[in-house]
Amino acid sequence: MSTVLLQTSGLGKAYGNFHAVNGVDLCVRAGTIHTVIGPNGAGKTTLFHCLTGERRPTSGKILFDGQDITHRPAHKRVSIGMARSFQITSLFQELSVRENLRLAAQGRDGARALTFWRPTEARRQHLEIADQILERLNMTARANTPAGDLSHGLQRVLEVGMALCGKPKLLLLDEPTSGMGIDDIPLMTSLIAELGKEHTVMLIEHNMSIVMSISDTITVMSRGQILVEGPPAVVRQDERVRSAYLGEE
Ligand code: ATP
Repeated sequence: MSTVLLQTSGLGKAYGNFHAVNGVDLCVRAGTIHTVIGPNGAGKTTLFHCLTGERRPTSGKILFDGQDITHRPAHKRVSIGMARSFQITSLFQELSVRENLRLAAQGRDGARALTFWRPTEARRQHLEIADQILERLNMTARANTPAGDLSHGLQRVLEVGMALCGKPKLLLLDEPTSGMGIDDIPLMTSLIAELGKEHTVMLIEHNMSIVMSISDTITVMSRGQILVEGPPAVVRQDERVRSAYLGEE
């Protein structure tokens, strides 16, 4: 069994008396696709925010790659290998796909690029990363297309690509297929499955056929807590999950 990359113990986030995340013990193994599901308001996004450092937990602990990162700011979590996909709103719509990826690679390089590298050498290296990502996304033919001219689905694929520019150990994707047309969903699904071969991926997803087909482990949340956890076959059989979330499945 693979090593543990991310672990939380008793993780909580309270807003006044309301516990959006309440005593979550999570264990994400390296090299797996770990999906968090649950009804609206279950606490999935708040959990992700606590993991990435966008929200400060009110209780508990987060260990990432053996380090206690509970109180580490978001940008320092990025530098040790945690990446969250960008939002479409953060794409430079008028710039090409390749330029967006180059800027993401530059951004992830931070001060190193400015301090130690000659700018032309840094630019060359960032373009090299952009080209590798273009290939992985199967978007080389669209390298020079302005990001704003891509379909919604391809813009979401580009967001994932931008997160990949930092060569993350853990990639967090919050509803990557939301708002996607039915034709683009298989593209994103196969991309995530492909990424799962090289990265550890945490996913929030509502589409149950995607969840069941690509996840190694599923955590079902309800009211801020973990209701059930396990591989798809186990979660699918759980009576509470079947009646509450899987409907007629
Ligand atoms: P969805 O599937 O609808 O995105 P979710 O499972 O991601 O839901 P969260 O967005 O984490 O749920 O919200 C969990 C609960 O915490 C909700 O009841 C929400 O209203 C509440 N909540 C989230 N952020 C805040 C905040 N800043 N202040 C107060 N309550 C909040």
